[in-house]
Amino acid sequence: MIGVAERDVREKFRRSGYTLTSQRRAVLDALKEFKGHPSAEEVYLAVKKKNPKVALGTVYQALSVLEEIGLIGAKRWSESPVRYDLNTEPHHDIRCTECGTVEEIPGVDPGDLFETVRENTPYEVTQTTLVIEGVCPSCRARN
Ligand SMILES: [Zn+2]
Repeated sequence: MIGVAERDVREKFRRSGYTLTSQRRAVLDALKEFKGHPSAEEVYLAVKKKNPKVALGTVYQALSVLEEIGLIGAKRWSESPVRYDLNTEPHHDIRCTECGTVEEIPGVDPGDLFETVRENTPYEVTQTTLVIEGVCPSCRARN
């Protein structure tokens, strides 16, 4: 799932009219190092290790460009900073309300949700944001 092909990166930048700057490249590379769904702050700290002079604002901007052109996904839970994700395929994530860990939920097809909404409303679905929260096994063991 860390499969953002180099060809795809170049193609999406080319079509968008944005330039693939070294900062945007550094942010994308940093995201590849995360297994989970880092916040902008976490991405910033990772980028900073290799580029000590990078500014937080630059990282925010790069993330927003990468999201806009569809190279990364972003999820917005309540009471959590935006979380970024290299997996742009429709999928559901679950977030632990105790420690903030975010994980992908296997075996749940978001397509079913699309279909159900389509069948039951006259709307054309353009986007769904399903917020799923719970308490992860390590937090449950601690309580
Ligand atoms: Zn937890």
